[in-house]
Formats: sequence, structure tokens, C-alpha cells
Amino acid sequence: MSSNNINRRKSSTVKVGNVLIGGGNPIVVQSMTDTNTSDIDKTSEQIIQLAKAGSEIVRVTVNDSDAIQAIPFIKEKLLKSGISIPIVGDFHFNGHILLNKYESEASFLDKFRINPGNVGKKNKKDKNFSTMIETACKLDKPVRIGVNWGSLDQELLAKKLDINNKLKKPKILDDVMCEVVIDSALESAKLAELIGISKDKIIISCKLSKVNMLIDVYKKISKLCDYALHLGLTEAGSNERGIVYSSCALGPLLLDGIGDTIRVSLTTDINGNRSKEVDIAKLILQSLGIRNFLPDVTSCPGCGRTSSNYFQKLAFDIDQHIKTSMPIWKKDYPGVEDLKISVMGCIVNGPGESKHADIGISLPGRGENPTAPVYIDGEKSITLKGDNITNEFKEILLGYIIKRFKK
Ligand code: SF4
Repeated sequence: MSSNNINRRKSSTVKVGNVLIGGGNPIVVQSMTDTNTSDIDKTSEQIIQLAKAGSEIVRVTVNDSDAIQAIPFIKEKLLKSGISIPIVGDFHFNGHILLNKYESEASFLDKFRINPGNVGKKNKKDKNFSTMIETACKLDKPVRIGVNWGSLDQELLAKKLDINNKLKKPKILDDVMCEVVIDSALESAKLAELIGISKDKIIISCKLSKVNMLIDVYKKISKLCDYALHLGLTEAGSNERGIVYSSCALGPLLLDGIGDTIRVSLTTDINGNRSKEVDIAKLILQSLGIRNFLPDVTSCPGCGRTSSNYFQKLAFDIDQHIKTSMPIWKKDYPGVEDLKISVMGCIVNGPGESKHADIGISLPGRGENPTAPVYIDGEKSITLKGDNITNEFKEILLGYIIKRFKK
């Protein structure tokens, strides 16, 4: 299936700063900082790092008065560094107080994330929610109504459980939870519209940490409304777990045309590399043929036929070479992100796979002639030999890029 036959679900277009979400616009990659927002230098630095990695929107926590007062200074720092990325404020528990008291600081945010599960209890709930929506209306800001099953509206859950328990055949708890997640999002969105915000200022997310349940919830809510949808598996975990679980959760939904913006919630690794979540989000979209961000390198896993680890080194080297060259290539060679490269370990699949790529190299396997044929646009172009294959291949690659993509 190619991106051309994914039928995107119809949704309203929401303008977040200079970025459009929904309405058939390209699916937006977003991320979130893990710094203390009131630390202006560290937060700005991390936003710049995330933006450089390709994040198109960044969310920061706004948990106290120091955090909200830091926002104008963070914005100023970003603009001085030439970064105009939209910043979203993540509000929980005290959002109504902060937005009411620090309206001018809040005006520097591009969107407010509101969690209906923790805006307050009983009669305070609607009042606090109204305060936040009214501020959004006054400042002309969009909101994300972001439900998370870890902080679900307990009153709504208790009500639904009560109704469920009275049924002849009560549903299992997970099913009730899913229904409450959906109801909480839709009821809050409806209330927000009644308060005065327009539909094209509302984005919805329903985050859960179980892959099957998340898919189920988004499939259901996508049919019940046309609000723009933010996708993400919450608390996905770290490393391989986070990557695999997020990919398995988002992939089926995106292929079904569901989702207008995505975030991959990875626990930051011990090296503090926060931008990995952006890399994974981009790779998910690219793997599905939805958006290309980097030239795609197909490489085989290698096996007993691979004569040395030279092939792994070449595949790794080409990958790194692309990543480091991309900032310049993107500027000088528009469209280069659509390039398909293949690096293969032997003659079994090497020539065939290389022919499917724009440019491919097939290295010699064990017992094969020590030569590496290079294929360009499906045709064998040249055969490389000797110790300098990597550099020669890089030169051929650059020559191809210049010829095909130079402005
Ligand atoms: S292309 Fe050759 S080296 Fe690579 S996995 Fe297949 S058989 Fe092994």
C-alpha cells in the first residue's frame, strides 16, 4: 500500500502557531521537553535540539507560576536562535489559576493542552474548565483536549461503572475504561464549543498505554467526530519497547487514515537524548510511505554468506553520512528525502534489491568475486573494487543527488 491509497479521515484544520494540523495537511511530528520549564536556558536548548531533529511542535509542562513566567523568555531565546516552532503549554490541576493570573505570559503559547481528568472535582470541574477555555478564546488559541486513562475523570468513571454493574451482562473493566476515555474527550469538546471555542480550535487525544485498546479507542472516536486527532501511545517505555509498542500502535491507525499529528512518548535514554522520540516518529511516517524526511536506506541483515563485517560498516557509514549531510542536502537539493538507496551483502538479493532502489550497491559475499556492482535507476552502472569502496560509493551517491535534485 502506498501513501496514495491511504484515505485520510476528514477532520477540521487547526492552526497551531505557523503549523496546520488536520484537514488533510501533512501529519505533524511533535515532541515534549523533560526539563524544568522555569530553567529557561535548559528548556530553550532542548526545544532547539528537538526542532533541529525535526519536531514541528514542542510541548512544555506549565506546572507553576515560575514555569508560565518563563514562557516569554523561552520564546525570545528561540526566536534569537532562528527557531519559530510553536510551543504548547501542558496544564494539569492548576491550569485555570495560571491561565487566569498570567494571561499575558500565556499569550506566548501557541496551544493549551487541557486534561479533563484533572481540572477539578464536582462543581469546580466545569468552572475551572470554562476558565481555561475562556482564556483560550480570549487569546485566540487552540486547545488539545488530552484525555489519558492514567488520569481519567474519576466521577465519570464511577458513573459509568455503576451503570455497567447494573447491566445483565456487565462489560469487562477495560471496555468500560475505553468508553469513558472516549466520552470524557467528546463531552469536554462539546462543553468547550458551548463555552464559545470553535471546532477548528480543538484537537483531541485519547491516550492509553495498551496497544490494542489504543487502536480500538481511536478507531471508535474517529467515527464519532471530525475533530483533528493527536495520536500517541502513552507511557510507551524506553528503547526497544517504546519503539516497538509505539510503532505497532500508530501504524495500523495511520494506515487507516486516522491521525493528524503524532508523538512518540519514549522514556529518555541515559544519555539524555530526547530527540530520539522525534527520530522514531519520523521513521514511523516514512516506513508507511506517508511522509519522507531522509533518503531511505534499505540494507539486508547480513548472514553466513556475508564475507566480512565490511558490509555492516558500509550500511552504517552511509546511514550516518546521510544524517550528517541532510541539513545541507535539504537546502541545496530539494526532494532528496525521496531518494531510495540500498546496501546489500551478497549476490542472492543484492542485485534485485538494488534495482528497486534509485541507487544501490551489492557487496561481495563469501566466495564471490571481490567486486561491488553499483546500480543506478535499475541499471548496472559501475563495479567497484579494492579498499576504497565506501568513499567511491559516497562520491557516486553525491553525483546522483546533484544530477537529480539540484535546484
Ligand atoms: S542479501 Fe545475501 S548477505 Fe544479505 S541476507 Fe540475503 S543472503 Fe545474506
